[in-house]
Amino acid sequence: MLSKRASLLKPSPTLAISAKEKELKAKGIDIAGFGAGEPDFDTPDHIKQAAIKAINDNFTRYTPAAGIDPLKDAVIEKFKRDNGLTYKRDEIIISCGGKHSLYNLFQAIFQEGDEVIIPAPYWVSYPPMVELAGAKPVIVETQEDEDYQITAQMVKKYINKNTKGIVLNYPSNPVGSIFYRENLEQIGKLAVENNFYIISDEIYEKLTYDDYTHVSIASLDPAFKEKTIICHGVAKTYAMTGWRIGFAAGQSSIIKAMGNIQSQSTSNPASISQMAAVAALNGPQDSIALMLEAFKKRRDYLVRELKSIPGVTCYNPKGAFYVFPNFNNVLGKTYKGRVVDTSTALTEILLEDFHTAVVPGVEFGKEGYLRLSFATSMEVIEKGVERIKKAVASFE
Ligand code: GLU
Repeated sequence: MLSKRASLLKPSPTLAISAKEKELKAKGIDIAGFGAGEPDFDTPDHIKQAAIKAINDNFTRYTPAAGIDPLKDAVIEKFKRDNGLTYKRDEIIISCGGKHSLYNLFQAIFQEGDEVIIPAPYWVSYPPMVELAGAKPVIVETQEDEDYQITAQMVKKYINKNTKGIVLNYPSNPVGSIFYRENLEQIGKLAVENNFYIISDEIYEKLTYDDYTHVSIASLDPAFKEKTIICHGVAKTYAMTGWRIGFAAGQSSIIKAMGNIQSQSTSNPASISQMAAVAALNGPQDSIALMLEAFKKRRDYLVRELKSIPGVTCYNPKGAFYVFPNFNNVLGKTYKGRVVDTSTALTEILLEDFHTAVVPGVEFGKEGYLRLSFATSMEVIEKGVERIKKAVASFE
């Protein structure tokens, strides 16, 4: 019999949809895939060369479980350069992906009886990860017409003696919102006053559009930095999703505990990937601007086209590579005798009959919405949009 923990757990819906997408494509079905957020660009050449060199140099053995010093130093440089933050080596850990850093962090700081505040819409894996640590996710809804901001006032209502942390993700997956500096300041103060951690997931830091730039909450006040653990990684910035290199920065006691968990579970992240990540962080950064330019064009097109569908509204993302259109006015209609009553039903119809893969909003804690990743080619985006329009037009 399975453990209660495992039997209650379902697979990550973003990964499940992307697996389904790949399975259908392998069968020869022409799927327009907007599933998992994964840049369609190739990993830049100098990064690949660094990995090839690592193999040829036989850098293929165990490394320290928490990562190699050259990569920790590259991460330290990144925080100095981009965020004006100073960390020491024992305040940095390298993990097998940003997700792994988050998982180990939650295992290190949360336990039974703890409550963790998560603004919704949230990334699909935060609540299950909190639960896997034995703690309770406390969801605070944010709204499209309030620019998906989280304010101190909203958070205050949920703070009690059990509150152990808040998870902030900005630019956010799935909506692409950015938290205003004044809101970050207020939430930082709340964390200090009420003694809870700020888990700051900044994996989409480099992907911002228009005039928006990323500001890390940890950089706003040394007291906030004390309370913050930044989780990050190379996947989204350098098109390195499969290499599995994430990192985290925070108090040395927490980083040490995460390292202990890592050393008793996965051991080190792949030695070759670590060398590739050193090249990514220390090497030329021009690939980011090229990706951003393409993402921006796709965002503009997708938002415009989705908004042109009768009844559909769409928030214009300020960062990341997702759109989160509101299909509430479409729900309740009928398709082939079936009432399209939920975002999951809509997703199923889009996939089965219109060969378009999207993720239902309910998985991100917001019913009536869909998430589409635009980290895919313009050709797929154009094709997918046409199919969604056709689907909605056929609903009665
Ligand atoms: N973070 C990406 C997404 O939301 C990758 C898949 C995952 O790990 O959930 O699509």
